[in-house]
Amino acid sequence: MKNKTGKLYILSGPSGTGKGTIVKHLIPKLPQLVRSISATTRLPRKGEVDGVHYFFISKQSFLQKVSESEFLEYDLHFENYYGTPKHFVEENLAKGKNVLLEIDVEGALKVKKNYPQSVLIFVMPPNIAELRRRLRARNTESDADIEERLARVEKEINLIEVYDYTVLNDDINLAVEKVYKIIKENEYDHKTGH
Ligand code: 5GP
Repeated sequence: MKNKTGKLYILSGPSGTGKGTIVKHLIPKLPQLVRSISATTRLPRKGEVDGVHYFFISKQSFLQKVSESEFLEYDLHFENYYGTPKHFVEENLAKGKNVLLEIDVEGALKVKKNYPQSVLIFVMPPNIAELRRRLRARNTESDADIEERLARVEKEINLIEVYDYTVLNDDINLAVEKVYKIIKENEYDHKTGH
């Protein structure tokens, strides 16, 4: 029997929409799904752990990795680099595991180009006021950073048509349930019926 490769799921959407919270709740429910850990040059926030939330690396080593084609995609975001490690993703897909990426909209579109079979899920904030409130409540970005993040939102929402699914995150439990169902639905191969 031919080995089945895994499926790539990309959870994306504007900063502060609750992607991270959805992933946190989702992973324990889906043991066959592995989450890719991105590398970033930004400093860890309070409570963030190297190798768990991100691989926190210097700009110099990030650019070194870029030159060695170690990223599936990378992006400069609010003056910091973020990148998806290629090796981890490819190795797990080859093993038949499903892989989840939690990345920004531009990164998601780059991945979709290289992996047309990937499933793109857009997490939509209820509204801008709520998004501003969530970013402020996080208390980790300056007001200028928050406004910069909000300014990107409109541009990102315009790209929604490219996505396979949209999930409105106005209730975290419902949003988790919806993403869970999307993943379960896509696990079923409609061609072979398994
Ligand atoms: P934060 O600084 O809030 O953790 O992340 C900022 C943004 O970068 C979020 O939208 C997050 O999803 C995105 N991001 C995290 N990792 C990656 C990555 O590997 N590639 C890209 N393109 N974006 C990422």
